[in-house]
Amino acid sequence: MSVPRIVVRRSPIHGRGVFANVDLSAHVRVLEYRGERIDSAEAFRRYGDNSRLGETYLFAVNAHWLIDGNVGGSSARFVNHGCAPNCEALVWVDVDGDERRDRVYIETLRRIRKGEELVFDYALELSHALTATARERWRCRCEAAHCRGSMLASESQI
Ligand SMILES: [Zn+2]
Repeated sequence: MSVPRIVVRRSPIHGRGVFANVDLSAHVRVLEYRGERIDSAEAFRRYGDNSRLGETYLFAVNAHWLIDGNVGGSSARFVNHGCAPNCEALVWVDVDGDERRDRVYIETLRRIRKGEELVFDYALELSHALTATARERWRCRCEAAHCRGSMLASESQI
């Protein structure tokens, strides 16, 4: 029986996290971000404004479609944000140009040792000014040497 490459358990960063269960090579695909495909109107209907997204598992694939990891989601939804990422989320554009079918994969950026938590930079772009509550929700606690203190893409949004 093969050993699973990753394991989900409690994370010192936030909630549950995904950890390497074996040494992982650089630039390998670890997980696909799965879940129900919904459009932004449906995402808003389900989860309201962005201030609530911190408690959900939504991945914005492109301008029109999101993956709702709360519905049929894979372990990829538990991969936390980190300001010094060891993974990246790559969008694979559908060959026929159907944006609804674009796929998202979590791949390693470097060699990752067994026991390390997998993180990628969420670099979130929010479409409206943040309330103090929302700002607190997106606070980063990754403790990287150069942690920017937020999961958002840039200081200008903080
Ligand atoms: Zn950070």
